Amino acid sequence: MTLDTLRTDADRLWATLSETARFGATGRGGLARLALGPADGQVRDWLVAEATALGCTVQVDPIGNIFATRAGSDPGRAPVACGSHLDTQPTGGRFDGILGVLAGLEVLRTLARHDVATAAPITLINWTNEEGSRFAPGLIGSSVHLGLLDLETALALHDGDGATMGGCLAEIGYAGSAPLGPWDFDSYFELHIEQGPVLEAGGLTIGVVTGAQGMRWYDIAVKGAGGHAGTVPMALRHDAMVAAADLVGRIRTLATARNRPAVATVGRIEIPGASRNTIPASALLTLDVRHPEAETLDAIEAGLAEVASQVGEAHGVRVEFGRVSNSPPVAFDPTCVGAVRTAALRCGYRHADIVSGAGHDACAVAGFLPTGMIFVPCKDGVSHQEHEDMTREDAAAGADVLLHAVLARAGVAA
Ligand SMILES: [Zn+2]
Repeated sequence: MTLDTLRTDADRLWATLSETARFGATGRGGLARLALGPADGQVRDWLVAEATALGCTVQVDPIGNIFATRAGSDPGRAPVACGSHLDTQPTGGRFDGILGVLAGLEVLRTLARHDVATAAPITLINWTNEEGSRFAPGLIGSSVHLGLLDLETALALHDGDGATMGGCLAEIGYAGSAPLGPWDFDSYFELHIEQGPVLEAGGLTIGVVTGAQGMRWYDIAVKGAGGHAGTVPMALRHDAMVAAADLVGRIRTLATARNRPAVATVGRIEIPGASRNTIPASALLTLDVRHPEAETLDAIEAGLAEVASQVGEAHGVRVEFGRVSNSPPVAFDPTCVGAVRTAALRCGYRHADIVSGAGHDACAVAGFLPTGMIFVPCKDGVSHQEHEDMTREDAAAGADVLLHAVLARAGVAA
């Protein structure tokens, strides 16, 4: 058998996905495996045991990230890393994050099974608290490891019940002593479900992820004048709700009326002191805007200023907006993107380039290491839900592409 025809074991990967879904099972087909809770501890213990059984060296850093390394034949080579996260949302699914870690394990099992010795070592990573639903924000494990977030600050973060990250890490036995990074990896690959409907709609098996959208968050305040719902004639009103509704429509136009449309979401409108028979005096809105290019985000931000003054004039209100966060777009390393594309071609899977709409650990890692991502379809594009689902075949296809992308970087022992 040549290496080109090497494939992962679809049945073994699927069985492993099912087997580990008992850790944190909700009883309704989903998972509640919150970061650093008992179920997270159990699945970590399981992963460490499996990796150790394969002959891997396991290290844990002080924020609980797990690194399982299969040795290469050339001790001078930096390891090729792959992985994702095993934690879930409170009513999460069985694949978000989990697929990337278990497919990485399947890659290691496949290499062991077929006695393939790689030149560079391969390191499987489980990042701590990607989801950010128990301890906010998300991506804490990768951020601390990379030096983007201070360790002491992270360990002091607490959940809704007052339990700290540091305390929970100690409780489940994952306050490790390996040094923080960024470690000297050759590259990093992450397989993940798409969490959107694009691949499925296009009849595609593999998304070659070229980068991730930039994201900007805004708070918007519309300030009008309140009054009695029955006594103030319509023409004399400065109704903040009506102005806000107009604003939402104009923001939609601002986002979509361009060659490459952005996505813009007003997710919340709050009317302070809202009452059925009172004209709203003010409205507070949140806005989330995403696009792969910073220039477009800049243009939308400038457009937002224009729209704000137009709405202000039209309704006799004041519209103020402020940016509350800015995550710049991420472009993955062209050689890693190329390795993913070549792997998809070699395995014969229908694929297309795609930009990630969501944030992932890989987006943080991409600032430090050559990084690539692989997407596979999930049923109806649904994620962060207990009924999140995918096919056995797509899971295996993703693992195959991960295998060949990693092999292309790691090389085979001479
Ligand atoms: Zn995820």
